[in-house]
This record gives sequence, structure tokens and C-alpha cells, in this order.
Amino acid sequence: MIRSVWFDTKEVYPSKVVCVARNYLSHIKELGNTVPEQAVFFIKPNSAISHDLVLPADGIVAYEAEIAFLIRDNVIFGVGFGLDLTKRDVQAALKTKGLPWERAKAFDGAAVLSPFVPFNGDITGLSLRLSINGDVVQQGGVADMINSPTTLLIEAKTFLSFEDNDILMTGTPEGVGLVKAGDRFLGQIFQGDVLVVEQDWLVGTAV
Ligand code: ZN
Repeated sequence: MIRSVWFDTKEVYPSKVVCVARNYLSHIKELGNTVPEQAVFFIKPNSAISHDLVLPADGIVAYEAEIAFLIRDNVIFGVGFGLDLTKRDVQAALKTKGLPWERAKAFDGAAVLSPFVPFNGDITGLSLRLSINGDVVQQGGVADMINSPTTLLIEAKTFLSFEDNDILMTGTPEGVGLVKAGDRFLGQIFQGDVLVVEQDWLVGTAV
């Protein structure tokens, strides 16, 4: 089954989600990582895309709230809110062995995406807010990023191609934490003070 995202009330089918690690200084500090010399990319396949936020049966999963972009004709065409779900304990084990992160980052349901809306405004004014059960837990925006979305897009294109409707996720600010069954997530994207798109999720459990 090919997974879809909503864009401007239509279903579209990204071939992949291109993600970047360590793009906000605040998050690098909270995980005790170092600032990378060049952007660290990883990919979530189409099979990782989900409209729902579901805890997998087999893992401790962290949320990472991210500004996500829909790419068309090689440029930013839409914006949405994304959760990059991460099995942090699995990732830690893989990292110490220097192994790839797919088991921690590319599992089914690991890219939870809001609907996307058309966007061609001033990218520097975009920010995100994630609230859980009414409390704001993550906030940050393009102004806080090490590499801007435009820079990330250019850099990624030096080694991969974006198909139309592919998604670019731009990293997470500080405040990551664990996903718990029954929690209510509200993800919002703002342009300045104006709400651009939002989505809420009730955390479900895998059957
Ligand atoms: Zn991330």
C-alpha cells in the first residue's frame, strides 16, 4: 500500500521523506551531540509515512517535532507539521556501533505528517509549536536552524533527487521526549504570529 499525505485537500504520494539530524543547537546540546561539519541526512521511505500517531509494540519511541516541506519541481511548494518518531534506545545502540539508523528511524509509522498547505511566503518567519495534553513542549523555527530549509534542499540535491511531493523535514528544537499512549499531541506551524496549519493526534497503540 502506497502511503499518502494531504496537500491542499488532495491526496499525494511522496516517494520518501528526507530528514536531517542536528539542525538546532538547542537540541544538539540536550542530546550531548556535537555540531556536524556538514548536514547529516537520513531517509524515511514511503512506508514510514502515517496520518496517525501510533506507538509500536516493540519500542520506546521519542517524538521530534519538525517543520516539514512538500517539494515540487525541486522547490518548496507546501508546508506542514511532522513528527520524526525515533526509537531512541535502538538509535543509541546503533550509533555506538557506527551502524545505520533505519531500525530506529525508518520503521512503519515513523513519519507522522499533518496535512500540507501551499506555501510561497517568507520562509524565515516559519516556526513550529508542539503541545502535549495542553502544555507546550517544543518551540523553534527557521531562525534557530543551523542550516536553513533552502540550504538543506540545495545540499540534499547534491546527491539525491526529489520526486514531486517528496517531503523535506528540517530537524527538531529542544524539548524532545517520549510518546505515551493516550497523550494528546497538537502540532502547529506559524508564519510570524499567524497559524498556517495544525493537526492534533491522540496517541494510539499498535494492535
Ligand atoms: Zn528529526
